[in-house]
Amino acid sequence: MDVESMDGLYEAFVCTGCSCLCDDICVRVKANRIEGLTNICSTGKDRLLWEEEKVKIKRPMIRTGRLEDVDYDKALQSAVRILLQAKRPLIFGLDSIGYMAQKIALDIAREVRGVYVSDNIVYSVPFYLEARKRGIHFASLEEIKDRADLVIFWGCNPLDSHLRLLSRFSVYPRGRFIERGIQDRTLISVGIDDKLSRISNLSIHMEPGTDQEVSEALRRLLLGDQIGSFRGDIEALEGMAYLVGKASYGVIFFGSGISEGTDARGNIKSLFSLVDSLNHRAQFVLFPMDNCGYNANGVVQLLLREVGSPLGADFSKDPLFKPGETELLEILDKFDAALVVGADPASTFPPGKVNLLERIPVILLDPFVTSTVSISDVVFPVAITGVEAEDIAYKMDGLPLKLKRIIDCEYPSDCEVLSDIYSRLRGNKN
Ligand code: SF4
Repeated sequence: MDVESMDGLYEAFVCTGCSCLCDDICVRVKANRIEGLTNICSTGKDRLLWEEEKVKIKRPMIRTGRLEDVDYDKALQSAVRILLQAKRPLIFGLDSIGYMAQKIALDIAREVRGVYVSDNIVYSVPFYLEARKRGIHFASLEEIKDRADLVIFWGCNPLDSHLRLLSRFSVYPRGRFIERGIQDRTLISVGIDDKLSRISNLSIHMEPGTDQEVSEALRRLLLGDQIGSFRGDIEALEGMAYLVGKASYGVIFFGSGISEGTDARGNIKSLFSLVDSLNHRAQFVLFPMDNCGYNANGVVQLLLREVGSPLGADFSKDPLFKPGETELLEILDKFDAALVVGADPASTFPPGKVNLLERIPVILLDPFVTSTVSISDVVFPVAITGVEAEDIAYKMDGLPLKLKRIIDCEYPSDCEVLSDIYSRLRGNKN
């Protein structure tokens, strides 16, 4: 294989380690390898310097009893045959691939009358349902950096999931109106017992499952109402009410600690009510933090543009999946094939549900060997988007950014494989 020389220094490179999509990374490439990185965090480094942690898929494979190497064309034929034969295929994953690949996967879902659902859906449903009903107070990360003098992290820990969110966008940086950075801001963490609570000006510890009680009590305190009985630390809550009452611009970042589980809808509702009432006294915004792929927001933007709901789409003749109402895992037994791109459901689905995927033909696109390879029937190795292939990704606040290719690689991109599948599907039907 001839390696195209892409040596050089890449500035303003976009990191796809998480949905912060930091675009200030400097990368030096020499002899088709990354030799130097600046500004990047440890999560981003793991994404770019994957060699020690991960093994690449080397060749396309199809299952004939066991997985066997085949050429690209044969794998393509098998994938197309599976999708054409399926009555209700699932197109799944999607939040760790580029926007153009997400779009072609949506075209495939339309073509084969499938169900298109992102890996991120579990976290998104309660938030989007509430946002649709009430509207939302939201802001870009740039605006938060420039204006927020109060930052609250509720049920999420960016030090684990979005490492540079504090240093680059929310707590430490100097902003246009927050000229001294951290010295002009207050940081509060709610429901997180770790490093983040140690660096916070105030930390609210609480019993698991009492988020609604805490947010409702805080809302009442701020309104000057009686809060009645309260199971938490009332002094800490009064301290929080004081700090929140002083803020001129606040942001509440919230995460899976409150947007997952049986209380999720009630939790999200109570946060919306809190932010609604805070907006009568100052500007407050609510910011969901995903725990999924770097381009979870790309799926949201695409689905809003093309089908009107960010929660997935069912193109079948007798739709089973109602976005926002149906739990994907509850109807997993209704699918007769799956196309999985940018996800590893064999690791992330509950064990009792993985066997439902094992019984149907699975087509997988992934650069790396994952647990899902072992339950797949057709496997395509693909280039790593944002390193070995170009595309577009949407940052967690909805800003689109161009992802560069800086390393030459022998594998096609997600976009190329999906486009080839799509053209063959259309060719076979015409
Ligand atoms: S915070 Fe996220 S996008 Fe930024 S450098 Fe770290 S992993 Fe990359």
